[in-house]
Amino acid sequence: MEILTQYPQYEFVQSDEFLFDAADDIIYYSEPDLDHEQGQIALLHEVSHAELNHFDYSSDLELVVMECRAWQRTRELAKVHELSIDEVYISDCLAGYSTWLEDRATCPDCQNFSLQTSDDTYHCFRCCTRWRITTDALDRLHQEKITTQKHSPSRG
Ligand SMILES: [Zn+2]
Ligand SMILES: [Zn+2]
Repeated sequence: MEILTQYPQYEFVQSDEFLFDAADDIIYYSEPDLDHEQGQIALLHEVSHAELNHFDYSSDLELVVMECRAWQRTRELAKVHELSIDEVYISDCLAGYSTWLEDRATCPDCQNFSLQTSDDTYHCFRCCTRWRITTDALDRLHQEKITTQKHSPSRG
């Protein structure tokens, strides 16, 4: 596969999916899918993550921004390799991420788009509700409200 030989700086390992493992600097790819343009684009997308040094993200928003940048880079690489890129597919991917973010960041009480304060905790700056993101056994997302402790009356 021509694309693989053009990025000797990365290690490519056959797998059943396309994935960039930043911890080990390995790009996993699905060999049979490379027969199709869509598979080649998927490979370039993982190369983009590698090139952009996408290692870790500190918030859900950052993850979505990283995906956006990776697709931007994928568009450039597609040009280099003379591949046509399916914009509908890209916008579907990004729409999926933004829905994912919205489901997590929308305040369950007042629907305000809110700030993430730690790994799994959000805080609405309008109504002060705090919630944690949890997933159940079926991987469905839940916003679990964190009850704020009543302020103890001031002692003078
Ligand atoms: Zn990606
Ligand atoms: Zn709120």
